[in-house]
Amino acid sequence: MRAIFLAVTIILAAFSGCFGSDDILSEKRGIPGGLTLACLQDSQFTSMELVFLYEEGYEPEASDLLKSRIDQVCEKSTVRIRKEIVNFEHSGSWSSDDIRDQRWDLGADAMQENTLRWYFLFPSGVYQKDSVLGVAVDASTVAIFKDSVADAEGFLGRPSAEEVERSVTVHELGHLLGLVNLVYTSPIDHEDSNNKGHSNNDNSVMYWAIESSDVGNFISGDLPDEYDADDKSDLSGLADGTISAKNQIWS
Ligand SMILES: [Zn+2]
Repeated sequence: MRAIFLAVTIILAAFSGCFGSDDILSEKRGIPGGLTLACLQDSQFTSMELVFLYEEGYEPEASDLLKSRIDQVCEKSTVRIRKEIVNFEHSGSWSSDDIRDQRWDLGADAMQENTLRWYFLFPSGVYQKDSVLGVAVDASTVAIFKDSVADAEGFLGRPSAEEVERSVTVHELGHLLGLVNLVYTSPIDHEDSNNKGHSNNDNSVMYWAIESSDVGNFISGDLPDEYDADDKSDLSGLADGTISAKNQIWS
């Protein structure tokens, strides 16, 4: 009896190892924009979860704003915000691989039944290129570097660190939505020719300088925190199929 029990235990252990393996069942991670149709349309994903993983002292400022931007462009009956304090236990600067590793270690799949889940990481420390304030690293993952955002605050607090963070957060969300021309070709000529994937309009949150620490030097007046008419036109064209999307990991 004991021998049989041992045998059963060993077989079960072998199975659990198999099903627990990331290599066999792992979800495709895609590129930024790879889940834009999953967000814009509601044929499978009727609800959405915005998950903020942040280190103590690095609480996100723009979670409600992000939800309202999603509500404006994506067909979702519910959009939930979930905030979790985590310890990334990371030292030194961050690479894109570091960000992906943490997100997929700590987070869950982006696609689960009828829920689409996008992750926003707020770690301490800086990106490997420390002029970068935020970065989108795959179809469901963004990181915002609040230490660099604080340093980007303008002279006499204009723009303030909070304003910069709001703009950068909405900007990186725009990359997950595929802006500008990441997974489609716009019928409107609004991509900046020197800064691919970005807008040439300094009234759009997708303007190329928004995610750079020089942002205060390039934009006078209020920082934009909204997509402009051309960005919105691209998103509605993608949503209704008049603009075709490529590199989608769900469609
Ligand atoms: Zn950008």
